[in-house]
Amino acid sequence: MLQQARTLLKRHFGYDAFRPGQEKIIESLLAGRDTVGIMPTGGGKSICYQIPALLLPGLTVVISPLIALMKDQVDNLQNLGIAATFINSSLDSDEADLRIQRMNRGDFKLIYLAPERLESPHFRHLLQRLPVSLIAVDEAHCVSQWGHDFRPSYLTIASLVADYPRRPRVAAFTATATEYVTEDIIRHLGLQAAQIFATGFDRPNLSFRVIRGENKKDFLIRYLEANRERAGIVYTATRREADQLQEYLVRKGFRAGRYHAGLEDMERARAQDAFLYDNTRIMVATNAFGMGIDKSNVRFVIHYNMPKNMESYYQEAGRAGRDGEPAECILLFSARDINTQKFLIEQNQATPERKSMEHRKLQSMIDYCHTPRCLRSHILHYFGEEAPEECGNCSTCADDAEPVDITTEAQKIFSCIVRMQERFGMNLVAEVLKGSKSKKLAQTGFERLSTYGLMKEYTIKEITDMINILTAEGYLFVTEGAFPVVRLLEKAVPVLKGREKVFLKVRKRASRLEADSD
Ligand code: ADP
Ligand code: ZN
Repeated sequence: MLQQARTLLKRHFGYDAFRPGQEKIIESLLAGRDTVGIMPTGGGKSICYQIPALLLPGLTVVISPLIALMKDQVDNLQNLGIAATFINSSLDSDEADLRIQRMNRGDFKLIYLAPERLESPHFRHLLQRLPVSLIAVDEAHCVSQWGHDFRPSYLTIASLVADYPRRPRVAAFTATATEYVTEDIIRHLGLQAAQIFATGFDRPNLSFRVIRGENKKDFLIRYLEANRERAGIVYTATRREADQLQEYLVRKGFRAGRYHAGLEDMERARAQDAFLYDNTRIMVATNAFGMGIDKSNVRFVIHYNMPKNMESYYQEAGRAGRDGEPAECILLFSARDINTQKFLIEQNQATPERKSMEHRKLQSMIDYCHTPRCLRSHILHYFGEEAPEECGNCSTCADDAEPVDITTEAQKIFSCIVRMQERFGMNLVAEVLKGSKSKKLAQTGFERLSTYGLMKEYTIKEITDMINILTAEGYLFVTEGAFPVVRLLEKAVPVLKGREKVFLKVRKRASRLEADSD
């Protein structure tokens, strides 16, 4: 069957090969499995259900909320010689009836529907009498009430599927890669033993950089001055910070607009248009900016603060370079960002389970900011894709520093954590190693530990940096919650016992000239 799929790819679509991932999804559907495809916009999801539609007997039903795109997609298919049609509210009832009649006659291989159609019992009845082999659900995250795109009519899909005398297989597609959305999709679409494929996440034209331990404002000004002609987005964690930063940039003579949910609709629309039409070059915004915005020549996305998780980061950073030309994604990290995000998690009204998941995701984001390895490979692994060890287009790969031996530092850190019985957070561990004279420490009695002052030549920040790096590398583990505790993982044991060394591409000491913005 796969061979036939390749032939069809060439014959109908004119492509020589499947993209990685497309083939796996198609194979899974042809084998009759329910399948979830997680792929970014432009990743090539249509082919994943169009080719099975051609190979399977009977009809494929495609459910999509994007009514505006249906006609275009169907026109394309018809031009490729594929019998397809759509039924949605843009048709008058005569035309809809005509298409339904033709559908009943078996004239079509693919039919595109808006989800609201499924709420009509009459229409469901019609559909249920047809030999449907595949139901493809586009924008499947609309079934999740957690997202902003919740569509109640998506909840009717599961019963439609279940009521078939011969249950069709279901393919669900989304660009939203969070675990809970995936879980919701599986649960609320009633998928059975679903196979999940995440694919096509690499954006080779984007170069990634993480910057730690530099004054953020100075960095930003230098960057914007060096990139005078280019358009870009600067994301901040809070509305207040967006306001302040935008004011600051304007004072410094940059054409910068701002966008966040605290502004009037009018002002937001104006700011957005000015940016889209290149009247302002820089947009300072919170994560409220970007949904559904398609500006192709965004040359940089700078995160002035670390976002709450990798999914948000990649989605926001991915707004750079839509035109396929080189673009930069820069994340400015400071330890204070961690506290901001923790505070935001604790403050929201979510259930304890949800919060603990958000803390876990935050930790993955912190790991990204500290990994001594290739950033792209880190991102792709996070999204479940295979990736080469080095990409040659990120700040780690560009850094030609040799890995250094930090075994001694690692041993000091590990043994301090052990002596403190793995019951404290990384800041207190760092204070003990530094030999801090703070009151808080005096109360704990930790200045009597043998590890007290063992790393006094380092700053607290350098020590916490190293702890973060060792966490990102899987030697340490930070518990969830508002008061996270650092613990050792198995990988640390041979290092502690002197049986293994730690070599990492890190700077042991931050340069004294760079003051942190904290
Ligand atoms: P999505 O629906 O995931 O946003 P599309 O299905 O519209 O993306 O595909 C995006 C683009 O990639 C389209 O122009 C499509 O023709 C192209 N494409 C898809 N699969 C392949 C392939 N195997 N080889 C080359 N181009 C492809
Ligand atoms: Zn790299």
